[in-house]
Amino acid sequence: MAPRRQQTVVMYPSFGVGHIIPMTELARVLLRRGLDVTMVLIERPFWSSDSGAATTRRVMAANPAITFHVLPPDPSPPDFAGSTKLPFFHTLQLLRRYNGELGRFLRSFPRRRLHSVVTGMFSTYAAEVAAELGVPAYTFFASGAGFLAVVAQLPALLAGRQEGLKVLGDAPLEFLGVPPIPASHMVKELLEHPEEDVQRHGGRSEAHRRHRRRPAEHVRVAGEPRRAGAQGPPVRPGKAMPPMYCIGPVVGDGSAPREMPPERRHEHECLLAWLDAQQKRSVVYLCFGSRGTLPAEQLREIAIGLERSRHRFLWVVRTPAGTDGPKKFLEQRPEPDLAALLPAGFLERTGGRGLVVTSWAPQVAVLRHRSTGAFVTHCGWNSVLEAVAAGVPMLCWPLYSEQMLNKVLMTDLDMGVAWEMEGYAAGRVGADEVEAKVRLVMDLEEGRELGARVTARREEAVAALEDGGTSQVALARFLADAEKLRGQLGD
Ligand code: UDP
Repeated sequence: MAPRRQQTVVMYPSFGVGHIIPMTELARVLLRRGLDVTMVLIERPFWSSDSGAATTRRVMAANPAITFHVLPPDPSPPDFAGSTKLPFFHTLQLLRRYNGELGRFLRSFPRRRLHSVVTGMFSTYAAEVAAELGVPAYTFFASGAGFLAVVAQLPALLAGRQEGLKVLGDAPLEFLGVPPIPASHMVKELLEHPEEDVQRHGGRSEAHRRHRRRPAEHVRVAGEPRRAGAQGPPVRPGKAMPPMYCIGPVVGDGSAPREMPPERRHEHECLLAWLDAQQKRSVVYLCFGSRGTLPAEQLREIAIGLERSRHRFLWVVRTPAGTDGPKKFLEQRPEPDLAALLPAGFLERTGGRGLVVTSWAPQVAVLRHRSTGAFVTHCGWNSVLEAVAAGVPMLCWPLYSEQMLNKVLMTDLDMGVAWEMEGYAAGRVGADEVEAKVRLVMDLEEGRELGARVTARREEAVAALEDGGTSQVALARFLADAEKLRGQLGD
């Protein structure tokens, strides 16, 4: 059923580059279907970094068809200092405190104009506000369907456990729909924190209790074209799983100027001109997401390995974090001093065959460039989808969040789009491994086989987006179901 004009989907990623970027891509899909999209963000929260805020401003400027609304800052944020828990779990509670402001904003729309509210992964408590207003609520799951399957089944796995999963070491955990996941590869919070936290994230919140009464109300929109499509929605044993709509992959096309922040446009143009001058599939691209940083010692190992590999490279370097643990994401860091961080003479010796850029690259444009042959990635799911959509094989170097779990999915033969840099597990990838893996992926027969598998996945992604493809079918089903649900809620 075609949506009526002038209906607005309110998307509420709240904050976080890795959530906002894919939601703007989903917004484009919905705009093309004749819906209006308003994206609600929160004023730079105290736990977010300056660079995140700058990127958010760029995303806003680059998407004039989307209406943006920024909620004012929480006037009295709770003080979590001294708490043993990590920001991940706090974030859900911190964002719940914005429900009042969100509700005031949503009430400024006539109800008939509100099509639905799409929350982000952290802002799920906003579903309570949508429920009060009788508006369908959905969650955009900005990671893979494999991780969603794990999250959905975790409460059953953890029921009764008083401790985290750390004690299980590398023991494989079995979940339906995904390969065995070593316990050590689960999200860090799950390794260290007891049941209470997991239950909160895994589905026992008040919001979820409400959803259980009306399960169709809570729908997840995933971005992965393949795993969920092939294997059906993940099952939470003993519980009905709400409908899941596998729309995507929703990734950008890399077209300028969207990817180009005005203040760095010239630099990015030079970068793309440099890529233009390289041979097809000859460049290794290294980038660790919007937040990833590496210690200075590790940067030097990469530099030595790249230099020895004799391959061409494009490397995004950030200033190393000054602290360890989750607090490092909150630091304000200056631009990196490359001459001080990298080995003496490295930039001069590799000039012409390598390009080091500071802090940020127009990633989608880089990945889609014909010169890019491989991608060393931290395994954030947007980066993974962007590389698959561009047909670029990957070397996994997971850093935080669910990235180790993503690495299992990416290197498992079923997906088979990457190999891993093994040293990451011990906290250090040596120059020898950097050199060897770069050569493996760029030079050798095995590298060509990996490339062929990624090409096959890319073709599946393209097919999913075509008329009649799984993404189009899921989108049509989502729109039809939302209309029906609106009716049931009293349209
Ligand atoms: N990104 C980019 N340039 C950079 C670093 C990141 O354009 O130098 C974009 C990247 O294309 C992706 C997003 O930022 O869309 C990062 O999301 P991902 O899920 O890969 O990682 P996160 O930053 O959430 O850990």
